[in-house]
Amino acid sequence: DKKQLFDLNNCVKTTLALVNNKLKYVCDVDINYEELPRVMMNVGKISQVITNLLINGAQAIEETGRRGKLKVRTKANSNGTVELIVSDNGCGISDENLQKIFNPFFTTKDEDTGTGLGLSISYDIATEHDGMLSVESELYTGTEFTLTLPVYGAA
Ligand code: ADP
Ligand code: MG
Repeated sequence: DKKQLFDLNNCVKTTLALVNNKLKYVCDVDINYEELPRVMMNVGKISQVITNLLINGAQAIEETGRRGKLKVRTKANSNGTVELIVSDNGCGISDENLQKIFNPFFTTKDEDTGTGLGLSISYDIATEHDGMLSVESELYTGTEFTLTLPVYGAA
C-alpha cells in the first residue's frame, strides 16, 4: 500500500472541503486544529475514514430533526500519537448497539442510506496504520469518535 508522510490536518481540511456541501444543511461545523507532527498514511484511506465519521455524524444529527453541531478537533499527544476527534450532538447510540457498530453490515439505517460497512472499513484502516478507532456515546445526547495514529519515527 502507498503510505506517505503527511499532515493529518491537511487531510482533514481537504476531506471537509469535499463533504461540506452535505454537512452545511444539517449542522454547523466547529473546527479546532492543533499543530501536528506528520504521520505515515495512505492519504486516500484516511480521507475515507474522515468522510465516514463526518457523514455518520451528520446523519445522526438529521435523525434528531434539529440543526446540530459537529466538532472536529486534532490533537498531538505526548506519547507519540496524533488524534482526530469528531463529535456530534446527534441521536447517540444505545449500549446494545455500541457493541456492534464496528461489525461489517451492522446498520440502523434503511438500505439506501447505509450499508453498515463504513465503520468496519474505517476500523480496519486505523489498524493497518498501527492506530485505532474508538467511540464514546450517550443515547439521545451525542457521540464522539477518536482516530489515533502513530507519529512517524516516534516509537
Ligand atoms: P452505516 O452508516 O452505513 O449505517 P456505519 O458502519 O458507518 O454504517 O455505521 C454503523 C452504525 O453505527 C450506524 O448505522 C449507526 O447506527 C451507528 N453510528 C455510527 N456513527 C454514529 C453516530 N455518529 N451517531 C449515532 N450512531 C452512529
Ligand atoms: Mg456510515
